Amino acid sequence: MVWPCPLTVDAYAEAGRGLEFPRPDCPGCAGPMVFWSGYRRWVRCSCRCRRIFVPRLRCGPCRVTHALLPAFVLAWRLDTAETIGGVLAEVAGGRCGAGLAAARSGVPYATARGWCRRFRARAPVLGVAFAALAVELGGPAVIPAGAAARFAAAGIGAAFAAACELPGWAGLGAWRFASAVTGGMLIAANITAPFLMVGKRRFMPPVPPLPQ
Ligand SMILES: [Zn+2]
Repeated sequence: MVWPCPLTVDAYAEAGRGLEFPRPDCPGCAGPMVFWSGYRRWVRCSCRCRRIFVPRLRCGPCRVTHALLPAFVLAWRLDTAETIGGVLAEVAGGRCGAGLAAARSGVPYATARGWCRRFRARAPVLGVAFAALAVELGGPAVIPAGAAARFAAAGIGAAFAAACELPGWAGLGAWRFASAVTGGMLIAANITAPFLMVGKRRFMPPVPPLPQ
C-alpha cells in the first residue's frame, strides 16, 4: 500500500517512527487495521542513500499485514518516484535517450534503461488505465498518439491534473501520484491489469485487447 506522503525524503527519514502515519482500511475487507511493527529500507534521492522506516499494518480478520510505503518510493526500487518518473518522462517524450536521462539524474545507465524497458512493456495497459482514470476524475480524454510509452506518460499527466482538483493531491507531483494510485507497482513486473486507488475510491480500468 502507498499513501500520498507530501514530505521530502529527508523530512520523512528524520521523522522515523515518530511520523503520524495514516491508517488506511484493509484493501481486502475494508475493515480497520492496526499498526504492526515495520522495517527499514533504503531510498536514493539526489545521489544520496537514506534509510527510512516503513510501517506495517495488520488486518485481524484477514490475518495479513501490509507495508505502508510513502508515495516517493516505488515497490522494490531504490530510487525515488520523482527520479524514475523524470527519466521515464524524458525518454517517453522523445526528449533524449536513456543514457542522457540517466546521466542527468545521476543514476546508472543500466538502471535507467531497465526502468524504460519496464515502462514500455507496461505502457499499453498503463496508458489506457490512466487515460480512463483522467476521465473518471473529470479530466479531458487523452487520445493515443505516437508510441505507447508517450501515451502512458500523457495519461499519467492528465490523470494527475484531474486529481489536483481533489483535496490532498496537488502538492504531490505526477510521479508520487502515479506511485500512490498504483500501490507502488507502476513499473513492477508481472502486473497485467492494475487497479488504481484514489483515496478510498477504487477504479478498475479497462484492459486493452492483446495484440494479435
Ligand atoms: Zn481485511
